[in-house]
Amino acid sequence: MKINVTKSYLPPKEEYIELLKKIWDTNWVTNRGPLVLDLEAKLKSYLNIKNIILTTNGTIPLQIALKILGKQGEIITTPFSYIATTSSIIWENCFPVFVDIDPEYLTIDETKIEAAVTNKTTAILATHVYGNPCNIEKIELIANKYDLKVIYDAAHAFGVKYKNQSIFNFGDVSTCSFHATKLFHTGEGGAMFCNDNELNHQLFYSHNFGHNGTLDFHGLGINGKISELQAAMGLAVLPHLEDVISERKKIVNFYKTELKNIKHLKIREGAEWNYSYFPVVFETEEDLLRAEKNLNDNDITPRRYFYPSLNTVNYVNGNSMPISESVSKRALCLPLYVGLEMESIERIIKLIKF
Ligand SMILES: *Cc1c(COP(=O)(O)O)cnc(C)c1O
Repeated sequence: MKINVTKSYLPPKEEYIELLKKIWDTNWVTNRGPLVLDLEAKLKSYLNIKNIILTTNGTIPLQIALKILGKQGEIITTPFSYIATTSSIIWENCFPVFVDIDPEYLTIDETKIEAAVTNKTTAILATHVYGNPCNIEKIELIANKYDLKVIYDAAHAFGVKYKNQSIFNFGDVSTCSFHATKLFHTGEGGAMFCNDNELNHQLFYSHNFGHNGTLDFHGLGINGKISELQAAMGLAVLPHLEDVISERKKIVNFYKTELKNIKHLKIREGAEWNYSYFPVVFETEEDLLRAEKNLNDNDITPRRYFYPSLNTVNYVNGNSMPISESVSKRALCLPLYVGLEMESIERIIKLIKF
């Protein structure tokens, strides 16, 4: 049987169908129906956060936040993330200014941020990569000093805590993805988080065409709404999430003990991680290619996540980022999902240990 880097967690079918029945009962399919409101309430309490706006995916909240806070200026950002982090900046007519990453934590290197600030800089957009928190305190200090906004792409960070509170509490805006491959998912979906009520209101109306009631408009908006169908999936997945995380934790811990000689992610001090990915970083790209081939030959497909370094993408004019370019050539995410059998994990380990 083929083994992929991930396999979407699907809740028991009957539980999902029970939730879908409610849509047939009310005939309410989208536009913030009862299931969306219920999911928002349950997520607020699960995460212990003040505000949440569910969205149709994890990219639109980045675009909305950049539209409002980026103001077509320079955005200091990480080259080691998924393409959406950089493409959203360019899509919103802002300009990405890359800052290299820390070689251990793989998040943006906060000690290099100040040198990248210019009078055109409007915001910092950093990724809690693989759910590993950025250096939040340092970034906040720099943002305050230069009057910059901070947006966190927290697409990987559902359930992560930093200093005993939700990671989504940090930055002016945090965003998350609920894509089917993410830890918590709604098929397609996402969310934005903001503790400032005024900014939160602006984010809210922006994701719903700017509507102020049916006949009036607060301002410019787009359609970023999530549907009842998506919310039903989230409501079916959420009760199982603790089990999902503990299953993944077991797999990660097994990988970690068996793969002591290959470098893996260093989790930041003060963080409670979510076991969302298991990247290993080989010594050389040749080693990575050899491991990948060994796995592929056995019908196992890990993923080169994140490759390439985003400063090198063809439509991006980025400076060279030696650490990110080097890590992205050597990082491989190993299969990690609920239901991955111990026998398979042992086989994977044997195939990459050489
Ligand atoms: C998945 C992901 C996104 C995009 O989320 P979608 O829900 O697929 O739109 C953005 N940033 C990062 C870092 C991601 O991994």
